[in-house]
Amino acid sequence: MQKHLIALKDAIPRPLWHDPEIMPEQLPPLESCETCELLIVGGGFTGLWAAMQAKERKPDIDIIIIEQTFVGDGASGRCGGFLNTSVAHGETNMEAQFPGEAEQLHELGTQNMKEFIETLERYNIDARYEQTGETEVALDPESALRQYDNYLSLKEEGEDVVWFDKDAIREQVNSPTFYSAIWYRDGQDGVIDPARLCWGLKDVLVNQLGVRIYEGTKLIKVKPLGTDRMRASCEGGVINSDKVLMATNAFTSSIGKIRRSVLPVWDYQISTEPLTDEQLDKIGWGKVSRHALGDFTNMFHYFRLTKDNRITWGGGGAVRYYFNNGIDMKYMNAEKRYEQLAKEFFQMFPQLDDIKFSNKWGGIIASSTRFCMVPGVAFDGRMAWSVGYTGHGVGATRFGARIGLELLGYDPTDVINMQFVTKKSLPWAPEPFRWLGVRLTQMALVRADKNGGKRGLWLQFLDKLGLGFTC
Ligand SMILES: Cc1cc2nc3c(=O)[nH]c(=O)nc-3n(C[C@H](O)[C@H](O)[C@H](O)COP(=O)(O)OP(=O)(O)OC[C@H]3O[C@@H](n4cnc5c(N)ncnc54)[C@H](O)[C@@H]3O)c2cc1C
Repeated sequence: MQKHLIALKDAIPRPLWHDPEIMPEQLPPLESCETCELLIVGGGFTGLWAAMQAKERKPDIDIIIIEQTFVGDGASGRCGGFLNTSVAHGETNMEAQFPGEAEQLHELGTQNMKEFIETLERYNIDARYEQTGETEVALDPESALRQYDNYLSLKEEGEDVVWFDKDAIREQVNSPTFYSAIWYRDGQDGVIDPARLCWGLKDVLVNQLGVRIYEGTKLIKVKPLGTDRMRASCEGGVINSDKVLMATNAFTSSIGKIRRSVLPVWDYQISTEPLTDEQLDKIGWGKVSRHALGDFTNMFHYFRLTKDNRITWGGGGAVRYYFNNGIDMKYMNAEKRYEQLAKEFFQMFPQLDDIKFSNKWGGIIASSTRFCMVPGVAFDGRMAWSVGYTGHGVGATRFGARIGLELLGYDPTDVINMQFVTKKSLPWAPEPFRWLGVRLTQMALVRADKNGGKRGLWLQFLDKLGLGFTC
């Protein structure tokens, strides 16, 4: 049997973060008719942060959250846990999509991150936060040259970045595939354990702030009730509320505008057993610094250490869009994708030839045509949403939740007049063009990666339309 198959043989098909030892008990589902001021649909980061901030803005607000399965079962409890300050998926995207607003968005992102960390401290939520910054590694000489140009520009702009040439990066983390790296070490970027964050927020909301959460409760339909209320029909009962915040991200929505804004993309991860000292010595990772890494390619991998020194490994060529917005659970455990990930892992770390993978799992990213969150409002301000974080939502969801609340009229600020909020997001094309477009783009991105990042005609065409993915 091949090395990567042997390593995967005993991996459990469950997110590493969903450790039964620490998983809280599931709360009972809705079984009656209820009323509240604010109904939040979705128990991921957006929904949980929305409830938290609504309570900060209006302590006596009566909130219900409904979650179709359990809190943290969506992308939030399945992600890589990379915590980034940017609310618009990086500087390049920010400038391309919202010209003139980059500085303000940067400040808002910094403020968001500060408040994020303060909340963890205030409520003693142990999300296993580590302030590692983010380190981007180049995997070929041409990309290293491009990366060096980026580094010089960043330095000129006064960014706190560190350059590692080939020898220097291999001293930090030793892979024969590394040619250079930039360490973005400013601010509070780092890594967390995402499920611990979900469950920490859930605990505070329910046990300290009086928020009612119904798990195992799916929203079927939501519509206006008279001129000033909303009526949500759910499995198990009905909820009448003044306002509704949709925090359903990649999951198929009954609201057309949300549905057309997001494209569900499956992303897969595997994680190793805790590395022994000997294995850590072989790659040097954690000796000098505990970098949180991503490679400088279009189809990038993201990989990090956990508190107990496992490596989680995701992204790369295993990312998939399935025809007609496929979110069926049959895509959740895609053996071929895990095999591909394991193969790619050994290409990067051939020294770890005796490593075993303990977990393997998938999750759904909501991609938008602007590659960052899409806020929206309907029914005279009675319903709002924040969806479509495009794989960059651990920090940004807190800001998305804030925008959703402000659109619903909870202490609105000038933020909701920014083009970041008011600019319409282009809807995704209908099928079969959607599938074809994604497929073509994915193939073009792979080709660009093989050519040291040089973008071919298709990507250049998308760039002209403002639809080229650059971050
Ligand atoms: C594999 C993977 C890795 C990622 N890695 C990173 C990373 O390292 N860093 C980063 O910044 N971002 C990452 N992301 C993206 C990030 O996880 C998301 O942007 C973020 O978690 C979105 O949070 P959310 O609350 O909006 O959505 P979700 O966490 O998906 O929550 C939506 C919730 O709504 C519920 N729901 C949907 N429909 C209904 C309904 N009808 N009724 C009731 N409930 C409903 C769902 O069950 C779900 O729990 C990753 C995503 C994936 C999938």
